[in-house]
Amino acid sequence: MPQLSKRTETFTDSVIRRMTRVSLKYGAVNLSQGFPDFEPPKEILDRLAEVSREDFHQYSITWGAQNFREALAEKQSRLMGRKIDPNSEIVVTCGSTEAMMAAMMTVANPGDKVIVFSPFYENYGADAILSGAEPIYVPLYPPEFGFKADELEAAFRQKPKALILCNPSNPCGKVFTYEELKLIADLAAKYDTFVITDEVYEHIVYAPNRHIYFASLPGMWERTISCSSLSKTYSITGWRLGYIIAPTEIIDVARKVHDFLTVGAAAPLQEAAVTGLRFGDEYYADLAAKYTAKRNLFLKGLDDLRIAHTVPQGAYYILLDISEFGFESDLEFCEVLARDVGVGAVPGSSFFREPVNHLIRLHFAKRDETLYDALNRLEDLRKKIPVRG
Ligand code: GLN
Repeated sequence: MPQLSKRTETFTDSVIRRMTRVSLKYGAVNLSQGFPDFEPPKEILDRLAEVSREDFHQYSITWGAQNFREALAEKQSRLMGRKIDPNSEIVVTCGSTEAMMAAMMTVANPGDKVIVFSPFYENYGADAILSGAEPIYVPLYPPEFGFKADELEAAFRQKPKALILCNPSNPCGKVFTYEELKLIADLAAKYDTFVITDEVYEHIVYAPNRHIYFASLPGMWERTISCSSLSKTYSITGWRLGYIIAPTEIIDVARKVHDFLTVGAAAPLQEAAVTGLRFGDEYYADLAAKYTAKRNLFLKGLDDLRIAHTVPQGAYYILLDISEFGFESDLEFCEVLARDVGVGAVPGSSFFREPVNHLIRLHFAKRDETLYDALNRLEDLRKKIPVRG
């Protein structure tokens, strides 16, 4: 057989998505890949049923259906504090996974550097490799997951093309403060660097923390490529609806990349999702309240079991400390956890540049009864997983 492409040799399949398959294999409660097991809002589902009988079965305009972009522009203009033009400042993509990939291909040439904070969402590594860019990792230090300004500036001195900012952050749950964002903004301006954001958890933030859109910082609109999606906000991860918001000159290029990557996001789903984009502000307040209650339920359960963990400021992930079990491989720990305890988790090493093997990631975007089921199973953790070494 002729050789397959070299560019795919340096990364594996997604460990997050692999752990979903492992969970299915063992019948484990799947708290690995982050997606809800509760229903999307009824209004969106009702509209979806209607749409199936309407005329939305052919391609939409490649950069997104007109009414979807209009509804999105209206919502995001309200939140980002800036009038966003639905006709020139938005591309609708197949999830923010495509948005991030298209954003990278829009700004980076092969050999360019991009700054990535560690821990990071595992797609960014593959995005960089596929677009030919080379990541420069800057550590975030627990428990607050702050960065050191001098380490960040040292990374900027290497003349990166872009910085990738996941805020609120997967997997560490950090919500960047205004001061931290301002510091990043000042460096981005000083070193003339793009900022690509991944803000899919923009509405899942725990008080008193507050999400600030990076593009809303003074002078940052011009250099920010804001990526997000409807997946987490409306509990429709399988619909694969994401988007890029950026200035016209950037969007012109991102549209070309998107056009040849996927042509467009699913037309009937865009139409049905307009219903969600038109929800009032109370929907987002309710969503945050719902996740706050789930976070509190799950954190209390872990505390009762005396398992050390991070406390997220946003998003729906928790890193658990498994040092006491003495496993050399966190991947193996997760296999054993799924098989013998019946809980699916993601090994922390998938998210860190640093050699980390003592953390696993669980998420709590699940019905309360699913969370209680997982907590019940975790009660047997120390009985069922013997300490090694
Ligand atoms: N963001 C989710 C996670 O980290 C999953 C995203 C995906 O698999 N596309 O688990």
